Amino acid sequence: MIPILEVVDLHAAYGRIEVLRGVDLRVPKGAVVALLGPNGAGKSTLIKVISGQMRPTSGEIHMAGVHVKGAGPDELARLGLTTVPEGRSVFPNLTVAENLRLVSYAGVPAAQVYDTAYTYFPRLHQRQDQLAGTLSGGEQQMLAMARALASDPALLLLDELSMGLAPLIVEELYRTVAQIAESGVSILVVEQFARTALAVSDHAAVMSGGRIVATGEPDEIGRQMADVMLGGAA
Ligand code: ATP
Repeated sequence: MIPILEVVDLHAAYGRIEVLRGVDLRVPKGAVVALLGPNGAGKSTLIKVISGQMRPTSGEIHMAGVHVKGAGPDELARLGLTTVPEGRSVFPNLTVAENLRLVSYAGVPAAQVYDTAYTYFPRLHQRQDQLAGTLSGGEQQMLAMARALASDPALLLLDELSMGLAPLIVEELYRTVAQIAESGVSILVVEQFARTALAVSDHAAVMSGGRIVATGEPDEIGRQMADVMLGGAA
């Protein structure tokens, strides 16, 4: 079967410094793939390139078999790719409901946006009139994910979902990631090292120094990473 995402020999640089040095990665349709790796490995840069925010220097990106290298974020969104960037992107001075309503301006009926958001994240329903800036970090992440889901993506890119969050809330978020995957959405989730991410993944890959250095079953990758990294096991 054609993968939902296939990256072939991708290179990218900031000025003269090459940060992606020949990345190969596949996300099969309907799968959750965890992309792990230490600080500075190039994970966020890979997400930026895949999501059209940064141009690669060479290589190929295919979505559902379509060559998309060079496509901008809007075109990629039309093809079904949505990103939840590192650091959550909510509007702090708007309420939860207003943050969601903004997505509906992109053409999705408001009722569908609210319905999807509140089904996956009932807590957002209780807090619909609260300013997003006053939500907890975990709730802001829920809102960022809810906004991303509103466009009914085929492939969701999640960058550092667990950053700065307590383990219990991370587990709750990943339970929802599993539910989202069950509904048929393919997911690429990027984390430094989170056992919770591996627990909901079908495949895992490890990035280091701008390359994928290992791929395999989540259990096996988890064991390998535990050997090479100290702590950090959310
Ligand atoms: P982290 O887990 O810490 O977010 P990462 O694996 O996501 O790390 P990247 O953020 O992709 O790594 O960074 C890869 C390398 O590129 C790092 O050495 C970083 O310093 C460098 N880098 C990232 N953004 C820029 C930028 N805008 N300009 C110059 N160098 C950058």
